Order: sequence, then C-alpha cells, then structure tokens
Amino acid sequence: MSQSVTVTRDKNVAIVTIDNPPVNAMSFHVRAPIAKAFADLKADDSVAAIVLACAGRTFVAGADITEFGKPMQSPDLREVIAALEDFSKAKVSVAAIHGTALGGGLELAMGCLYRVADAKAKLGLPEVKLGLLPGAGGTQRLPRLVGPSKALKMIVSGVPISAKDALASGLVDAVFDNDLLANAVLFAQDAVERNLAAPVSQRNEKVTGVDLAAFDKEVADVLKKSKGLDAPKACAQMVRNAITMPFDQALAAEREGFVKLVEGDQSRAQRHLFFAEREATKVPGVTKDDKPRKISRVGVIGAGTMGGGISMSFVNGGIPVTLLEMNEDALKRGMGVIDKNYGISVSRGSLTEEAKAKRLAMYTTTTNYDDLADCDLIIEAVFEEMGVKEQVFTTLDKIAKPGAILASNTSYLDVNKIASFTKRPQDVVGMHFFSPANVMKLLEIVRGDKTAPDVLATALAVGKQIGKVPVVVGVSHGFVGNRMLGARGTEAEGLLLEGALPQQVDKVFTDFGWPMGTYQMWDLAGLDIGWRTRKSLGLKAAISDALCEMGRFGQKTGKGYYLYPDGRTATPDPEVEALILEEARKQGVNRRDISDEEIKERTVYPMINEGARILEEGIATRSSDIDTVWVNGYGYPVGQGGPMFWAELEGLQKIVDRLEYWYGKTGKEVYNPSPLLKRLAAEKKGFADAKKAA
Ligand code: NAD
Repeated sequence: MSQSVTVTRDKNVAIVTIDNPPVNAMSFHVRAPIAKAFADLKADDSVAAIVLACAGRTFVAGADITEFGKPMQSPDLREVIAALEDFSKAKVSVAAIHGTALGGGLELAMGCLYRVADAKAKLGLPEVKLGLLPGAGGTQRLPRLVGPSKALKMIVSGVPISAKDALASGLVDAVFDNDLLANAVLFAQDAVERNLAAPVSQRNEKVTGVDLAAFDKEVADVLKKSKGLDAPKACAQMVRNAITMPFDQALAAEREGFVKLVEGDQSRAQRHLFFAEREATKVPGVTKDDKPRKISRVGVIGAGTMGGGISMSFVNGGIPVTLLEMNEDALKRGMGVIDKNYGISVSRGSLTEEAKAKRLAMYTTTTNYDDLADCDLIIEAVFEEMGVKEQVFTTLDKIAKPGAILASNTSYLDVNKIASFTKRPQDVVGMHFFSPANVMKLLEIVRGDKTAPDVLATALAVGKQIGKVPVVVGVSHGFVGNRMLGARGTEAEGLLLEGALPQQVDKVFTDFGWPMGTYQMWDLAGLDIGWRTRKSLGLKAAISDALCEMGRFGQKTGKGYYLYPDGRTATPDPEVEALILEEARKQGVNRRDISDEEIKERTVYPMINEGARILEEGIATRSSDIDTVWVNGYGYPVGQGGPMFWAELEGLQKIVDRLEYWYGKTGKEVYNPSPLLKRLAAEKKGFADAKKAA
C-alpha cells in the first residue's frame, strides 16, 4: 500500500486516510491505491463501513491541476468514485471533511453514502473559475443532494459554502465542532445499524418534478454575470440535465462537456491566469529569508478618490488606519464618502450595521503628521504633482518611525525620484491601487532602484492580506498597466477623424468581452483630467478638447463622447458625430469606412507592442505578470487570458506584419515593432521564451 493512502481499523470500520501534502490533491499516486482499497474492503467480510478521511490541514482540496491537459492515467477520478459508489451499494461509507472539500475532493465525498464535516469546513465546486465544469459526477450528484437551484448557484459561481450551509441544504449529514474522525467513526457505526441509504446517484427525489420554466429563469439570472464565458453556460446545462436525463446519460454528457471545455482556448486562458497569479508573487531578488515586516497600523495620506478606497481596503482586511488630510473640511468630506460607501454595502445586505460601525471605529483621523509616527506602512494618495509628493515625503522622512514603509500611490511619477526625497530610499516603494480601490483587485507594487527586498515582501504579503492581487513592476512612465493603456489609446482620436465613431470603436471592445470601450472609459474617468494635463504640457487633442470646451466632461456632466440620459448608460449623440465630421473637414481628412479589424490593429496591437517593450526592458518580470495586471486592474476579459496570452493565439508574426504596415503608413512610434516581438515571431516562439531568447 502506498504511503499516500493508508487503511487502519476501528472494529468493523475501516478508516481510509489520504495523505498527499500539501492539499491532498487526487494525484495518480492517490487514485491507484485508493481505488484498490475500496475494492479490497468491499470484499472483506470483517468490514461493515469505511470512513474516508484526510491527513494534514484539509480534505481533498481538488484534482491535481498539474495533470490538466494531459491524458489522465487510469484509474481516473471517475473510476475511483465509481469504485466508491460500488462499495457504497453494499456497505456504509462516510466522508469526514475538514478544511476544504473542493472540486474533485467534493466529488469524491459525494461518492460516499454520507458526509460529515468539521464546523469550520468549506465545500464547493470551483471548476468554473478555471473555465471548466466539475467532470467527475459533481454536476449530477450535487443537485441530488441539495436540489437543482442551490447546485446551480454553487456550480456556476464556484464559491464554496460553509459547513453550516452544507448541513442545512443536505450536502452533509452532520457537523461536529471537534473530534471529527472519532465522531465520523461513531456516525458510521450507527449507520451500519440503520437501513442503508441509496448511493447519491440513485437519489432522485430532489431532481424529480422540478418546475423547468422556473429553473430556466434562474439559469438566465445567474448567467447574467458571466457574459462571453462558455463554462458557466455549460455548468448550468449540466445541472439542467440532472432534471431531464437519467443519471448515466447525464454523466456521459458531463464528460463530453468537460472534454470540450478543457481542450478549448477559454479554459486554457483561465488556467493560464490561475497560474499567472501565483507566479506573480515570485519576485527576482526576494527570497524566503526576506521576512515581511509587521504591519499593525497603516497611515493613508489624502482622503480623496483613492485614499478613501485604499483606507477601506485595509480596514476591510482588519488593519486599522490613520487617515490624514490637509484640513478638517477635507477629512469630513473624505469620511463622508467612506461612510456612504459602507452604507451602500449595508443596504445591499453584504454588511450589517454593526459591522459597518466596527469598520468605522477602526479609523483615526488627523491633520497632524506627528500622528502617523506609530504607523508601520504609510501610503500617500495626494495630488499627482511631484512638488506635492516632495512635500509629503520630506515630512514623512522626519516623522515616520525607523523601518516604516513609505509608499506612493502615484500613477505615473518616478518612484526613484520620490524615494530620493528621503534619507531612507530602501523603505520607499510604489503601491499603485486601481479605482475604485476598495473593489479593484490589482495592486502594482513599484520597485525602486533602492527598494529593499523585505519591503517588497511586505507589500506582497499585506497586499494579499487585504485581498488584492499584487504584481511587482519596475519604474517606468505609467508602470505596466497605464503605460499599455496609453498605447491602446494613441490612435483613438485618429480613428474618429479618419472615419470611425465612438460607438463603433467601443463595440469592438465590448464584443471582445471588455466591460467597456475606450471612449466609455474616458467618459467614466472624466475628460477634464486629460484636458488639464494636455493644457499644462501644451498638447492638443482636437475632439476631446472641443468636448471639454463645451463642458462635456463625461458621465459626471451627463455628456461626453456619449449622452447619459439616466446618468450611466452611454447613448450615441448626433451632436458628437457632427463635431467629429466638422473637425475632420477642418483638418482636411477624407473620412472612409473603417473596419473592425482595423480598429483592433490600431488599438490592441500597439498595446501588445508596448507590453513586449515592457518585457524587454524588464519593467515586468514575465509576460504572465502583464496578463495578471490587465485582468485584475482593467477588466480584460478572463476568457481571453490577458493581452500577451491572447497575442500568442492571434499569432505574433501576424501582429508584427500589421504593426510594420501601420508603421510604414503613419511613422508613429507605437507601431514600431519591438525587437523582442520581432525576434520571437521570427523564431516562432512565445513570450515565455522571452528570457531565453534575450
Ligand atoms: P483626489 O484629488 O481625489 O484626492 C487627493 C486628496 O489628497 C485630496 O482630498 C486632497 O485634499 C489631498 N491632499 C492633497 N495634498 C495633500 C497633502 N499635502 N496632505 C494631505 N492631503 C493632501 O485624487 P485621487 O484621484 O485620489 O489621486 C490621488 C493619487 O492617486 C494621485 O497620485 C493619482 O495619480 C493616484 N491614482 C489615481 C487613480 C484614479 O483613478 N483616480 C488611480 C490610481 C492612482
């Protein structure tokens, strides 16, 4: 018997224990011995029941995802579960669940007649998050235990439920506060005395007589949030099959659906992102010895749009905040917005009044820098001007305690310059949050030339603690995300003058799966910001400037590139079309039809080109970091895997050819293909080979 699976005895109960650290994944070296154990124990007359348990910190937390995409060595998980159900037809089986029973782990547990759980356990089928459906009977057994509605919600969202919820909905049969294994054995012995329940696959009560029309309405509702993704749709279809088809037929359909998804580009993209997020925390020069510094209190300077959201992120993550503003009025305004935001969560039911009060009590407000002296991390989110940043960092250098981390939320400014305002540049780092900062997951951690490795380790750790997805980037104008966004928007004015309209360009983006297109995004952010910057730099953008001169600043004024009759929904405006035509006439541009393909080539391709430059310059460590940035900070559609992943599907050579075409035609630097991109295309390599090729 392999060490990964052991069988011990407690009278007539055999305890089958999986021990496959760290998370007891159902790897081949678990599957083979456990399937054999089920068969052997079935034949063993001295055994009346099995308890299936796990060593270590958790029950089986999933399939072995390193095996995805390869043919699974027999016995596969379905065969293991079939062996378990076969056992369960004759004898009692009880899964004893602690930690998390996820994916293949929960599917395995549903192969047992009964499930008992530790009170802190969580159970779920998160396959949808990898662009998959539960492929080992999960879509058929879960509805039989909890009913189709609950199963639909669980499988389409992928969000695990608590042991308490699992007990209430029928997924588990008992919950224990302690001594799980001993209680599971007692439960099994007791069950031996009772009439045997039917194996889960044969329990049809909850999937019989279901109102299909009502179910279909629920499906339409839950699918609203997953536009453009195949997996949620397929998951919903499988749960529907549980109502309309016999078990075996639905199981075959589940298999077919799984194979289709696992071989498709969307799931590949989603799996790429899953690994990319993990990989992003591996930072060159930061080792296990660089222990994160302790962060017990955070100071936030500036209670505006970003400071407010940043402070909420820390408070929500359980870290008290001292919030500093220039004067009492600004503090009051900032705290007012924070209070209102928490109020919205209360009205939506996602926060109780009591929890809101607790969070607000975690704030200390001040206008005096001396009050930041006890903070372990201080993040400034003041105006985007080097002079103001200089003032702030010079003061911080005087008052912050030794070892405190001094961070800037700057969007574009040089973090090395900011660090030079202090005598402790090793403690200075960029922590670039995205708006709204209490919601958006991305955190670009900007590494200055002198930033200490343990400062990066701390920013990574605290970022994760507050639920962000941290990515370490280098100093560069706009770092990774905003720099590429700039490249994407370079031709936005030109496309309009030459023949496109905002709604046509934006549709190319929304059809691709983005939440919005360029002009909608600008309207949301406010056109006046760019207008002010352009004026200060002596730059012009004819159409955008004209809109601003008309007082059309975007959503906040009800008009921008679009009209916003209800304050939110972008509606094309004939006045804007007339303005564009007039501007083209003034500039002597002959407008022509612009194809959607051309729009893509002149927006997305330059952005990828910039991504390649960022990689080449070492501003991003790896191309998957860039994908992580875009998915978590800019709403890049997850099913497309991020811009660099997508570029490889599109074909690097095709992108280089078209960039060269547009470079020849316009001479614009955004089209000048990066040497790295050209080399990889010529060598028929991908971005993962960038390092080796360099
Ligand atoms: P904002 O104008 O909404 O807020 C800035 C706040 O800082 C104001 O409340 C102001 O009173 C306060 N402030 C200014 N100088 C101060 C000082 N010396 N001491 C204390 N408080 C001071 O601006 P914002 O949008 O929150 O941007 C803040 C920073 O975050 C900028 O560096 C910006 O580039 C960056 N940023 C903004 C966004 C965004 O989408 N708005 C996104 C990422 C990063």
